[in-house]
Amino acid sequence: MTILNGKETAAQIRQELKEEILQLKNQAGRAPGLAVILVGDDPASQVYVRNKEKACAEVGIVSRGFRLPADISQADLENKIRELNDDQEIDGILLQLPLPEGLDSQRCLELISPEKDVDGFHPVNVGKLTLGLDGFRSCTPAGIMTLLKRYDLSVQGKKAVVIGRSNIVGKPLALMLLQENATVTICHSRTKDLPAEVRQADFVFAAVGRAKFVTADMVKDGAVVVDVGINRTEQGLVGDCDFDNLKDKVSAITPVPGGVGPMTIAQLLVNTVQSFKNRGKG
Ligand code: NAD
Repeated sequence: MTILNGKETAAQIRQELKEEILQLKNQAGRAPGLAVILVGDDPASQVYVRNKEKACAEVGIVSRGFRLPADISQADLENKIRELNDDQEIDGILLQLPLPEGLDSQRCLELISPEKDVDGFHPVNVGKLTLGLDGFRSCTPAGIMTLLKRYDLSVQGKKAVVIGRSNIVGKPLALMLLQENATVTICHSRTKDLPAEVRQADFVFAAVGRAKFVTADMVKDGAVVVDVGINRTEQGLVGDCDFDNLKDKVSAITPVPGGVGPMTIAQLLVNTVQSFKNRGKG
């Protein structure tokens, strides 16, 4: 059984990026720049933003944080995004979600220039993913695909079951798996017999948001299990999969924490460097 160690893999990626950024910086005369917008004071968002900024600093990406008050108007937030779209030293714009009530996140996401949309949420980039064209990919599913590749796990011709159909994880992940020639099933809250679907899978991806939702009896012997879930419980941080009982049954599994989470942040850095290169600065 292989533990798919996202923490270690992400550290390798950051090391590779650090070396690449040093070279790019010499050529371009500046480092890649990421703008991070945090509106309000949601504690989980603050932690996510801090981790992203820390990762930027480690590899040599200049992160510029914008902490905006929860009562900011939609117009002022949109103006900030427009300003960053025009800022030549900013390659990526990240708008930390969820936004406080009263703000229209979809409108804001659509305002971010697709060329700087390093989160891959803009409809142009989602459309490109659907068409199989180059573009920014949502960080969590793209990080998962990288993790599988680094462990030489190919989904080609395999049955993949994705549990969850959110726009940031489940749906884009299903499209990326399809692009890699998996036979993909998407399960969600209205799926009739979820265990029966999951039992067919060579690869199981859980993005539900329910602690230990995927149990050992739902997974076939030797399957690969990728756990996207982050659930804060009295036992601490747990995933969507019952890791302790699954580990003796599967051929590979991601831990929580230390699996998909660090890969998500690594992918954000990869996307930011890609944007820097696309924009002719690298
Ligand atoms: P979401 O709430 O937007 O979507 C959850 C999905 O689960 C929905 O599509 C829903 O249909 C499905 N679902 C709910 N109950 C179900 C049931 N009983 N049976 C089958 N499907 C069911 O969540 P999300 O944003 O996709 O996130 C999912 C989880 O992944 C959360 O725990 C979140 O914290 C975590 N997450 C982790 C990372 C990371 O970097 N590791 C990134 C994003 C999200």
